[in-house]
Amino acid sequence: MNTFPLFFKLEGRKVLIVGGGDVALRKADLLSRAGACITVLAPVICAELQALLEDNKHTLVYENYNKTYMIGARVIIAATDDETLNHHVHADATELNIPVNVVDTPPLCDFIFPAIVDRNPIVIGISSNGKAPVLARLLRARLETLIPQGYGKLAKLAGDFRAEVKTKIPTLTGRRQFWERAFEGQVSELMFAGNETQAAAQLQADLDSTAAQIDKNSHATLAPIPTTEQAASSITVDADTETTPVQPVGEVYIVGAGPGDPELLTFKALRLMQQADIVFYDALVSPQVLDLCRRDADKVFVGKKRSNHAVAQLGINELLVNEAKQGRRVVRLKGGDPFIFGRGGEEIESLRAHGIPYQVVPGITAANAAASYAGIPLTHRDHSQSVRFVTGFLKAGAPNDNFKNLLDTDETVVFYMGLHSLPRLTEGLIEAGRCADTPIAIISNASMPNQQVLTGTLATIVAQQEKEQLPTPALLIMGDVVALHHDLAWYRLHNQQHNKNVSDTTNNWLRGGTAATPKDLTSSNYQPTSQQAHALSMIANIAERQEDDSLEQLVID
Ligand code: SAH
Repeated sequence: MNTFPLFFKLEGRKVLIVGGGDVALRKADLLSRAGACITVLAPVICAELQALLEDNKHTLVYENYNKTYMIGARVIIAATDDETLNHHVHADATELNIPVNVVDTPPLCDFIFPAIVDRNPIVIGISSNGKAPVLARLLRARLETLIPQGYGKLAKLAGDFRAEVKTKIPTLTGRRQFWERAFEGQVSELMFAGNETQAAAQLQADLDSTAAQIDKNSHATLAPIPTTEQAASSITVDADTETTPVQPVGEVYIVGAGPGDPELLTFKALRLMQQADIVFYDALVSPQVLDLCRRDADKVFVGKKRSNHAVAQLGINELLVNEAKQGRRVVRLKGGDPFIFGRGGEEIESLRAHGIPYQVVPGITAANAAASYAGIPLTHRDHSQSVRFVTGFLKAGAPNDNFKNLLDTDETVVFYMGLHSLPRLTEGLIEAGRCADTPIAIISNASMPNQQVLTGTLATIVAQQEKEQLPTPALLIMGDVVALHHDLAWYRLHNQQHNKNVSDTTNNWLRGGTAATPKDLTSSNYQPTSQQAHALSMIANIAERQEDDSLEQLVID
């Protein structure tokens, strides 16, 4: 380390900034957040700086630089574009022994402004010692995504309880264990879910029960550091029977995994995936997304399979409940959004019935991904005033009465699970009165490197698809907006280049070539294997299915 990270108290302290432009503004903004009393010294001070420092604890001095303004300053910033003046400021500050920072001039800096992640009262500073500030900023962006906003509130809550915890839990180890349980378990999860009052109540309840346990047996030590599973929930003590903690209840997170590209996950999805003890995932969850789950988590494929119902919906519901009852944090990872043709609703009904806590994390649904990545806006002032998501899955022989709802030319219609019904869908729509020239697109593997888009009309698309054979998963978008694809497509162009450089296997995430028979995963006999094996078994499953069935249909029991 050639600089040492210290967190400097500037609340109510004088800081001198020499310079009144944009650079000074950026520094003033940061320093004012730490409560500093800022003096800006410059003949001209920009309007934003004036507005920022309008509070009368700050001072604006419209003068040329003069050493006397350094008196009493804790730190000094030289932020002018005059190199000679900056050197001058540095020399004067050094003489007075006041730490100085000459912006963007590392040799003239006694201290460095780090890239800051602010979760007040938790503050993280990252410095590259002036060597690569952009890299420090990128690192900061990464941390921003990993550290939930709720951390600040959690730290504040801990601060409020600190004294009480100290009184009620006399030993250092006991307190450490208590806080570990709180920060890794229910209390933090409630806080991150925005439930401040409940988080505080839970912390109070945990503290009271821990204190009761200590009271009861003055020789008793607290439980050993909890495993992640135990930490998933607070420990409850049976006050009457002097017993071990009651089996804690875990939690289920129904998480939308998006359309395949891992960069389309939400921060929240990623955080919960990183906490999982066990993950149950669907066929539409890409291996790249699965790879972002906690390394040690068990990963169980529960994709539905028409021929074999790998794990039928009722079975999945049961699995979720059973795992949570054992105190585990269960992630139910679903392609796209859990509440759009995802059966998320059914799963939470079952969790509710069993009193299992749950959260639902939305994901980018296939329609949004396909539209964006194919350059087909779902609504457009000139072409479409509304959008409708419908299932294109038609049971053999069943007439689809819904065609009459799909005749509005001002509306975009997105068909999920429609590729294999394409001939019957297009025919039915034309018969019901939709113009045969209506534009329609097939978007296959939306957002993935092997995305393909085929556009045509209700009259032509079936023949086109017969020729092109776009694979599943695929979505259909129908309406005038489809015509915009020609001009607005962007991903295809960038992607064509990319495709030249990747092997076929890498490209086709849903078309693994392995012949391995996937393990039959049922509620009673699954044996979680390594993450990679699960990813492989998933690919094998899909490969097998693709021979005889469409992926669309597989999500339907
Ligand atoms: N809950 C999911 C939809 C599940 S239904 C979501 O919100 O996206 C399954 C259907 O979604 C597939 O048959 C296909 O029509 C569509 N789909 C899912 N992922 C897709 C992708 N990457 N590209 C194109 N279509 C996709």
